[in-house]
Amino acid sequence: MPVPLLDVNAQNLPLESELQAAFTQVLNHGRFIMGPEMESFEKEVAAMTGAKHALAISSGTDALLLALMALGIQPGDEVLCPAFTFFATAGAVSRLGAVPVFTDICPICFNLDVNDARAKITPKTKAIIPVHLFGQCADMDPILALAQEHGLRVVEDAAQSIGAQYKGRQSGTLGDFGTYSFFPSKNLGGFGDGGMLVTNDDELAEFARVLRVHGSKPKYHHHYVGGNFRMDTLQCALLSVKLKRYGQYTADRQRNAAHYTAELRKLNGIVEADPAHCKCVTKQDQWLESQQARIVLPTAYAHNDHIWNQYTLRVLNGGRDSLKDHLTSRKIGCEVYYPITLDQQGCFADLPEASRQGCSVSHRLAGEVISIPIYGELTEAQRVEVIDAIAQWLA
Ligand SMILES: *Cc1c(COP(=O)(O)O)cnc(C)c1O
Repeated sequence: MPVPLLDVNAQNLPLESELQAAFTQVLNHGRFIMGPEMESFEKEVAAMTGAKHALAISSGTDALLLALMALGIQPGDEVLCPAFTFFATAGAVSRLGAVPVFTDICPICFNLDVNDARAKITPKTKAIIPVHLFGQCADMDPILALAQEHGLRVVEDAAQSIGAQYKGRQSGTLGDFGTYSFFPSKNLGGFGDGGMLVTNDDELAEFARVLRVHGSKPKYHHHYVGGNFRMDTLQCALLSVKLKRYGQYTADRQRNAAHYTAELRKLNGIVEADPAHCKCVTKQDQWLESQQARIVLPTAYAHNDHIWNQYTLRVLNGGRDSLKDHLTSRKIGCEVYYPITLDQQGCFADLPEASRQGCSVSHRLAGEVISIPIYGELTEAQRVEVIDAIAQWLA
């Protein structure tokens, strides 16, 4: 039985009549740019996340760029961000002429290692971008404390984690800004590109609002150079239809993850990482060896509500590509997020050496990770197929 990595139709087609009604409504009023559905969608996201302000933005990438613009990040400024993330996190920094300084990650949750971030702060460091990768929040309390201590701005890249929680607080609402993405593969997947910028700060929200429309305020008066960072009214109207169901979508992903974890941990050679070893890679390696581990399951920290944008395995001892080939031959979708760390990207080769150092955990994980299908509409039979294929590979 084929199991795709993601099946957007399985989620969207059952909503066809409601989506068509939303389309018809926008078609009829004709206010395609910043129309009423944009405002209502913003209010809905603000209500769900508890953020004071929410701005619908053309994409998650633009939301990051706009956040950094609103914070006044200048050419030559340094911005800390993890080496192991999607490109946009560092791309946004670079587009402003600022320097992304890459930090290493925790091998358990795949998120920014705050001790490494601390070691890489210089007088030029202006901001830090923790990414809540794969649907699980980075350890925000120490990150916020570090930022406070050094006067750094915090932009949470929550593209993969809208609705996830850290110690009961919503992902994206803990820093100066949070950014979400509605790219179709994200947990709240749209019908094209879209994103959201959230903040609890009135002044930052107002400045971002002005920058979203070319820095124009009042109309045709430009005190600042902004951009066109608006999300279509139509996209907002369609996403409102899905947002109503978001709790169920998340519960479905969490059920799938729980099923995988419960079944996979029974297999010889598969272990759950021990969060106690988070800060010490050597200790964890010794422990994994003592367990004769070949695959490490993803771990959700107890203080996090993980929303499982990806269910990502670590395959040890160089076995990753062999497992990938095996799953592919059984028509099971899988993907490597991310095969090349950002410090190793060609476009950053000219950055100062110091901004690309000390990312050994990231490098290692880039060679070990593989994500398997986790989308909410997977059937039990499909999940069993995936588990069975992994068991066959181990045998
Ligand atoms: C998807 C993603 C983005 C970019 O969002 P787009 O809407 O595709 O522009 C940024 N950061 C991370 C971590 C992402 O996963």
